[in-house]
Amino acid sequence: MYSERLSKRIGSDFMKIIKQGNLNIAREPLRFECKNCGTIFEAIKQEYIYCGDQREGDNWKCECPLCHGAVYYN
Ligand SMILES: [Zn+2]
Repeated sequence: MYSERLSKRIGSDFMKIIKQGNLNIAREPLRFECKNCGTIFEAIKQEYIYCGDQREGDNWKCECPLCHGAVYYN
């Protein structure tokens, strides 16, 4: 829904794309590394939660599948 609206705005010359990105990259899983047990795992959007703020920037949190500790990605 959102991308459809965006492309309409681009189509009407409202915005100029300098370099087109890739929407698939935004859907790529994030790779997390557990500091507790060393497990490296990938999590998709439904599995991790965004917990960034203005001070520390973007930050994602996911539960380690092995030790169930909190793993942060940034
Ligand atoms: Zn772990």
